[in-house]
Amino acid sequence: MTKKQKKKKLALHWKILLGMAAGVIFSLVLLSTSWGASLTTHKVGGEDIEISRAALFVKHWIKPFGNMFINALKLIAVPLILASLIKGVSDLKDISKLSKMGLRTISTYVVTTLLAVTIGLLVVNSIDPGKSITEETRDDLVQSYSGDADSKIKDAEKQKESGPLQALEDLIPSNIFNAASNNGNMLQVIVFAIFFGIGLILIPEEKSKPVKAFFDGFNEVILKLIDLIMLAAPVGVFALLAGLVVESPSKDLFAALLWYSVSVVIGLFIMIVLYTLIVYLFTGKNPKYFLGGIAPAQLLAFSTSSSAATLPVTMERVEEHLGVKEEVTSFVLPIGATINMDGTSLYQAVAAIFIAQAFGMDLDLTAQLGIVATATLASIGSAAVPGAGMVMLVIVLAQAGIPEAGLALIFAIDRPLDMLRTTVNVTGDAAVSMLIGKSVGKLGDPQVKDWDDNYDPIDSNI
Ligand code: ASP
Repeated sequence: MTKKQKKKKLALHWKILLGMAAGVIFSLVLLSTSWGASLTTHKVGGEDIEISRAALFVKHWIKPFGNMFINALKLIAVPLILASLIKGVSDLKDISKLSKMGLRTISTYVVTTLLAVTIGLLVVNSIDPGKSITEETRDDLVQSYSGDADSKIKDAEKQKESGPLQALEDLIPSNIFNAASNNGNMLQVIVFAIFFGIGLILIPEEKSKPVKAFFDGFNEVILKLIDLIMLAAPVGVFALLAGLVVESPSKDLFAALLWYSVSVVIGLFIMIVLYTLIVYLFTGKNPKYFLGGIAPAQLLAFSTSSSAATLPVTMERVEEHLGVKEEVTSFVLPIGATINMDGTSLYQAVAAIFIAQAFGMDLDLTAQLGIVATATLASIGSAAVPGAGMVMLVIVLAQAGIPEAGLALIFAIDRPLDMLRTTVNVTGDAAVSMLIGKSVGKLGDPQVKDWDDNYDPIDSNI
């Protein structure tokens, strides 16, 4: 081994953290120069808006690199689900194992979501953030963000129009290419892959062998692509965070919504603590092992606000660094990314109560229990993309009789909270994978591939 190969490389999560910090610092420094003070006009949706030269520079010359990075991750989400799930299901070799795992996965996800909503309600009812906001600030916020809130409300209208079985009906795609052509249809791709995998189990081995071998190889290629894309992660997160800093709302807004944000953050923090505790109790793996293994996926979730974009990295980390076998991760994680959003459900509960309080409504126990039910369902129905949780919040508000216009109150602060709740969503999926892995005897030692965190061509690996 050469000296260069022996040298210890900086761990991936540190590189990502450095990229994030550099992005924030870069934009803050740029905003503090004369460019930050000089205003220029910029067209958004046909309308001229005033923006600083610094912000325009970041928007045009830095942020696109972040978008390219997110797109690259999304690009491989559908092929990854297809290849790994077909391989994973067919590796189970037995349909009863699949239904056992399916049942456990879905029920564990529902339990963690209920837990998250309950924690959200407990925290928000102890802090009462809506009571500390003045009527004047409330009206100001409603006025300034009513346009933005309206567009979310319109998106939610479409969801509300559908019947009770619509979600179930939507699970079955009528055309796989149609389903695979839209990242929003991830659940349909999952259903197809499971169905295909079942077919593969049921046919004679000599026929299934070449098909399995194909998906095996295909899967390896996709995993390799994730490694290659992750090479760009520090630069990608630099660009994403630099973009977010120049777009962030004023400090005054943060101050007005401080107690609301604090409530969400405390709730999310409790969830992370609970996950590490549950993982420790059920699998014996300590917090350092769990959080250290999943950290790059958490940082990516934070930077992209999208569990779907983070999915490829979550799968790789849980499999290779947390030791959960692929038969489990390929099943539990894609499903988790689409239906298990503990951070989102917690946020929806806190936001609903906050808005109700800000409008002077006192919600009794029955109304709060209603929120538990709707926030659980709404988080299951939320797409794994930025801001989706807010669209579904409209449904929670409507159900509880809270004014939907209240969405405008929390609009300004939504993105930073989205970053945090997405991190919790991804951590929850990883924790549940470990539990399911342990319960079906598929939790082993980490199997970090040589080329994983070390992209230099080593021996014959590349
Ligand atoms: N951004 C979240 C996710 O992708 C969903 C949401 O809460 O808006 O997990």
